[in-house]
Amino acid sequence: MGSESSPPIAVELEAVSRRYGDTTAVDEVSIRVPRGEFFTLVGPSGCGKTTTLRLIAGFEEPSAGTVRFGDRDVSGVPPEEREVGVVLQNYALFPHMTVGENVAYGLRFSDPPGDVSETERVAELLDLVDLPEATDRDPDELSGGQRQRVALARALAPGPDVLLLDEPMSALDAKLRERLRLQVRSIQRELDITTIYVTHDQEEALAISDRVAVMNGGHLEQVNTPQAVYRRPETRFVAEFVGDNNVFSGTALRSSDPAETPSVPVEIGGETVRVDPGRRSIRSGDRVTVCVRPEALRIDADGTIHDAPDNRLKATAESAEFLGETTRVHLAWNGRELLARTRDPIAGDVTVGFDPDDVHVVTVERGGERS
Ligand code: ATP
Repeated sequence: MGSESSPPIAVELEAVSRRYGDTTAVDEVSIRVPRGEFFTLVGPSGCGKTTTLRLIAGFEEPSAGTVRFGDRDVSGVPPEEREVGVVLQNYALFPHMTVGENVAYGLRFSDPPGDVSETERVAELLDLVDLPEATDRDPDELSGGQRQRVALARALAPGPDVLLLDEPMSALDAKLRERLRLQVRSIQRELDITTIYVTHDQEEALAISDRVAVMNGGHLEQVNTPQAVYRRPETRFVAEFVGDNNVFSGTALRSSDPAETPSVPVEIGGETVRVDPGRRSIRSGDRVTVCVRPEALRIDADGTIHDAPDNRLKATAESAEFLGETTRVHLAWNGRELLARTRDPIAGDVTVGFDPDDVHVVTVERGGERS
């Protein structure tokens, strides 16, 4: 039950699994999405995102576990009775119908919400998606982004409680995707509609969501805000999947003791890196996996560092990709690859500096156990 300060739960999955023969597409997934939240399922191809969305929509039934809308168990409830609006990757507009007729098709199972006629509702929705003049046009006269906005208007026509979007932008070019995601987000906020979004694009997931669920092999790796998932990944998979990252494993040379020194030396392939354990307790001999973001690494254009961070590594810049605002530099360090970001391309031998508190501890394994 939600307290006064937290909105009630709109959609809940409790230990939901979906198996197809020997394949477990979704493996004991539990999620609670509060009303009004923009919640994104993100992960590589085949990780179970679409199946999870289809289970929520009612296109599939779980092999185990329960899907609830509010307090209501929706097992066996068909999609058209779940009050969900669905938008898929490939527009799915009817080519023989006008834009207005396509939007009105969204009302085939229900009357328009409120005291408006079907024509008024269609006009209202085309206004909302910023296509007020498009009612009489044919879908094939529209761009990909405009067609997806019509598909969104159609999904929203009956005033659903929950909006489900499966890779709605993946067929569009990068610029259009960025524009459309801003529009989708602003429409979602305006309507305050609970939204569950599926994408394989982690950058899109971070940009658009209140919270993201990172999926891998049918299970959830981590569920949190974009900032937390980016800055404090809880598994090696999340650390590597979300954004550029440097992820290493090594052995703690000392136990953590916040009273004495805030950082712990970790031996990584014969070199020592000092890491800030945060609230984690590390014991000497523990296997520690850490990550440090490229933007935390400091390298001057001439390969020197003017201040004195605790960690200084000798590395060799092997290649650089000019990205406009920054340059992504690939460095060789200790038989490993390090990614850094600099303003200008650099090459040759350099010193890389970073602070222990920019090194996030992802996992600590003690006697074979992960903590
Ligand atoms: P993508 O981004 O490629 O769409 P996804 O993360 O959405 O991937 P799903 O489509 O949910 O993943 O598929 C998860 C797994 O379940 C895959 O291994 C897929 O082959 C399998 N799967 C999905 N639907 C079926 C089905 N109807 N029959 C058999 N296997 C299926």
